[in-house]
Amino acid sequence: EQDPRIGGIAASIRVVPDFPKKGIMFQDITTLLLDPKAFKNTVDLFVERYIGKDVSVVAGIEARGFIFGPPIALAIGAKFVPLRKPRKLPGEVISEKYVLEYGTDCLEMHVGAVQSGDRALVVDDLIATGGTLCAAMNLLERAGAEVIECACVIELPELKFMIIEFAA
Ligand code: AMP
Repeated sequence: EQDPRIGGIAASIRVVPDFPKKGIMFQDITTLLLDPKAFKNTVDLFVERYIGKDVSVVAGIEARGFIFGPPIALAIGAKFVPLRKPRKLPGEVISEKYVLEYGTDCLEMHVGAVQSGDRALVVDDLIATGGTLCAAMNLLERAGAEVIECACVIELPELKFMIIEFAA
C-alpha cells in the first residue's frame, strides 16, 4: 500500500525531455521545491523512516542531495556531510572515482568528517544506474562509517525494467 503523500510528490516533479541531451527524460525536482506541501511531505517521509534508527550522519551528494539531506539531518539529530565534485572542498579529502555512461566522475569527502562507528544515510534526488550511490557508499565505508541505507526521492522505473531484463 503506497503512502497517500507520494502521489502529490510525484505530480510536483517536472519531467523535461531531451535535457541535458537528446534521449534523457530529466526529472526536475525544482518544481517540487516550489510546492511547500510536497517538499515537506518528501522530507517527512524520510524523517519518519530514519528517526530513532541511530543515524549519526546524513551524507548528501552534490548538488541535489544538498537540498534534501540537511532538513532530514536536522530533524533526526544527525550531522550533515557534503560529498562533493572534485576540487570543491578546501581541506584534505578522500576521493572515489566512478564510471559514467561516457567517461568517469569523482566524489570527494573531507577527511575527519566521519569516524569509524558513524552510522550513515546517503541522500540524493535520484537513482538511475546506482553508480553515484555506490561511490558515495565506498567513500563512507573507507572512512570507517557503516552505511545504513541510501535514500532517493526518485527511482527511474524504465531503468529498473532494464536491470530486471538483464538479470532474467
Ligand atoms: P546514477 O549514478 O546512474 O544512479 O545517476 C544518478 C545521478 O545522476 C543523480 O545524482 C541524479 O541527480 C543524476 N541523474 C541521472 N539521471 C537523471 C535524470 N533522468 N533526471 C535527473 N537527474 C538524473
